[in-house]
Amino acid sequence: MATEHETRQPDLHLVPKPAALAAADRAPVSDQTAPGIDNVPQHPVTAESLLAARLSGAGEASRARIAFQLQRLAGNEALQRVVAAKPKPKLTSVKVANAKAFGAPDNYVTTLNAPVVVSATLNVGGAGLGAGTVVWTGGNPGGKQTDRQVVTTAAGLQAIKVTVGTTSKNVNIYVVDAAPLPAVSPAATLTHTLIGASAPGTNFGLTVVTIGTQGVVGPEFDVTAYLDGNNWKFRVTAIRHKYKVGVSAQGRTNIAGPGDPAIKPSAIALIITDLTPPAPGTPHGPPRTTFWSETITRAHEQAHVDHFYTDPAFWPKSMKDFQDEIAAASVAFDPGAPKTSTGAGVIADKRPTWQGRADFFHGQADAAEIPGSETYAHGVSNPQYTVLLNSIKDTVVPPAPTGLAVAPVGRNGATLTWTRDAANETGFEIQRIESGFFGPLFSSWVTLAPVAAAPLTFTDSGLKPATKYTYRVAAKGVAGNSAFSTERSATTAK
Ligand SMILES: [Zn+2]
Repeated sequence: MATEHETRQPDLHLVPKPAALAAADRAPVSDQTAPGIDNVPQHPVTAESLLAARLSGAGEASRARIAFQLQRLAGNEALQRVVAAKPKPKLTSVKVANAKAFGAPDNYVTTLNAPVVVSATLNVGGAGLGAGTVVWTGGNPGGKQTDRQVVTTAAGLQAIKVTVGTTSKNVNIYVVDAAPLPAVSPAATLTHTLIGASAPGTNFGLTVVTIGTQGVVGPEFDVTAYLDGNNWKFRVTAIRHKYKVGVSAQGRTNIAGPGDPAIKPSAIALIITDLTPPAPGTPHGPPRTTFWSETITRAHEQAHVDHFYTDPAFWPKSMKDFQDEIAAASVAFDPGAPKTSTGAGVIADKRPTWQGRADFFHGQADAAEIPGSETYAHGVSNPQYTVLLNSIKDTVVPPAPTGLAVAPVGRNGATLTWTRDAANETGFEIQRIESGFFGPLFSSWVTLAPVAAAPLTFTDSGLKPATKYTYRVAAKGVAGNSAFSTERSATTAK
């Protein structure tokens, strides 16, 4: 190449022009040495060789030609200096766009379909290069000779080599089957699924969300791996948990609602007692000694489920903590092992640890929810008992009052007391019969003015002295009157 010739002529500039002019007598240098770089003589040309070859015996006539030739030679030297000042093209650096350097020098990583371009920088700049100055191996032609497009349509190693003259560089671009980390994290979906009946034991109902209890296990989760530069980052996209609920009659009779065959006049008092809830704010339900409501117990358990899984203070919060922890995790990309070279591999490697963390955060939610759980759930279910009782208590007549007692009051009165047996009495009806000389057989019952449901006492007046009176009491209800109570008598004073 021409540029190589230039370096072989170190002495050309030493040609002593005035001295050569004085000694030369004819044109010694052929035209072929003068005009082009490629025509520079193969052998070193020195002032001495010129003088020795050309000036011996030269006459005056030759001096002009010698001078002309030496002037041309001097011009040629100047041209050579210009050419020599322009360096040979060589590679000074290589840059890779849309890929991230990692590990060893010249190693890069990028994601599928990323527009990766390798750019060569030359010591002579990128403009006006002769064709073939920059030689590429691997990839596809870029927009310019100094650019190379990397094929990123499939995962794997893309080896690119760029050669400029005697300089070259290799770059390894690892294309990874992953998406770049999105700017906004996708919100994970939270799902809870009933997978079967728990065994309530001595409870009317039992909701199980606790890991390791009755076959309930920790949350399942989906994770997506993203490539953030040369690091794996992760996002939890879905979390699922499977829980169990069971209810138990505990040998009690279910009261389904109005019309239930178990709702009889003889039973209504106990039904009302059994299903009457305690005061609001109490972490307990009704006594349920003989009767229960399966529907309400299931609603109670559902309240536990809702409280745990949907109240922002419990499961959603803990699962958010879990998501945040995973989102903060990072694993350096390294092509050397499956657990660092692919998203699936790194997730598989991390999953056991993450499962432990998911279980931990789930347990945090469980522990946080338990203290207020019963108060909350009974706060939901207890009002339902009141609604149930209101819907059934007036469908049957009240039970007959019990415990009737009659005491004379002086010569003209008597006081009655009795016991109210149910909550569905609207009042009481009292009847009286007077025992005459022939006893009560020839008298008839007299209905007194109705009395209210409370107080459970009545004082009769206007009675005859020294007379025996017999009383009976019936409870009044929406559905009708109860049977009369046991009769009780008293005799007024003389
Ligand atoms: Zn409960």
